[in-house]
Amino acid sequence: MTSHFSYDINPGRILFGPGTINAVAAEIERLGRKRALILSTPFQRADAQALQAQIGSMAAGIFCEAAMHTPVDVTLRAMEAFNAADADCIVALGGGSTIGLGKAIAYRNNAPQIVVATTYAGSEVTPILGQTENGMKTTVRHPSILPEVVIYDPNLTTALPVAMSVTSGLNAMAHAVEAVYARDRNPVTSMMAVEGVRALRDALGVIVHHPDDLAARADALYGSWLCGSALGTVGMALHHKLCHTLGGSFDLPHAETHAILLPHSAAYNAHAAADALQPIAELFGGSIGSGLYDFAASLGAPLALRDLGLKEKQLDLAADLAVKNPYWNPRPVEREAVRLLLQRAWKGVRPE
Ligand code: NAD
Repeated sequence: MTSHFSYDINPGRILFGPGTINAVAAEIERLGRKRALILSTPFQRADAQALQAQIGSMAAGIFCEAAMHTPVDVTLRAMEAFNAADADCIVALGGGSTIGLGKAIAYRNNAPQIVVATTYAGSEVTPILGQTENGMKTTVRHPSILPEVVIYDPNLTTALPVAMSVTSGLNAMAHAVEAVYARDRNPVTSMMAVEGVRALRDALGVIVHHPDDLAARADALYGSWLCGSALGTVGMALHHKLCHTLGGSFDLPHAETHAILLPHSAAYNAHAAADALQPIAELFGGSIGSGLYDFAASLGAPLALRDLGLKEKQLDLAADLAVKNPYWNPRPVEREAVRLLLQRAWKGVRPE
């Protein structure tokens, strides 16, 4: 029986398909704005410059210093650039780091945001901002943070290196796996989550062999949109808490950490959330933990936290931090069980 639920539809507008980058100028106009500050990382500067040339006088300038974990000092420099260029909106072109910078600006000055998303991390469809200052990462959720327009142009993702495509895709799947057993889950989000995992599963298997395959790239972006929407709509649990702990306190890389931990955190919750996880388990041969592990291995994904530079002696502290102020989780978060989970993920052992 479909029971009571509440469902907040993410406001916003999605433009999907090859060539949709050409709609940026029209979207700025649609928002009633005239001058966009274009954001990117240093690595994607050429793409930002090409977009600047494309939109001509609607580009107020470009700021190409976006960095991982949204450092507040970078945000303050970007705000200066925004004001100096007399900009009235933001176009963020890139992955979660660039999108985070756009969100951080919008959170401070309420500027509307257009995002051209080029990874599978999903930040573009969430009202969540993580930012770092003095070595501390804090997270805020606010309506001004949610981008107004998202453009998914698969042409911009064919250059995403295979290794990043794989870890970013598994990062997206992790949002969906936690969404289906979320305490505040609802049938709409669960449907999006399962379809998102299916689309990514099929697409990633092609992308590892044919990174230029536009149809697979489109399917992966479609899947990442669905998984990101799930992240933006319902609460996350132990898996995200572990990743935030390892990223925030041990500086482990975002997407790789998600990719390695996902089979282990899914296995941790496999019995407690068996019914909710069943449709996703079926996509991976029936067993969620070992199925996700075998899938990640087949894509050549990293499988062991030790390969990311984490030391075995750091696992005790990681377990202590992860069980402190835990997020709600379908299975009780127990220190010893979490320590064992981390040990197995550190070694890269296949979950049973
Ligand atoms: P990223 O944005 O850091 O990108 C990694 C590198 O890949 C960058 O140099 C980037 O320029 C480059 N790149 C991106 N797309 C490319 C493409 N198509 N072709 C070639 N190079 C490309 O990585 P990410 O995993 O997307 O984002 C991670 C960050 O996003 C973390 O800080 C994480 O906390 C945040 N995040 C936030 C949310 C949220 O809802 N707030 C959700 C997911 C991730």
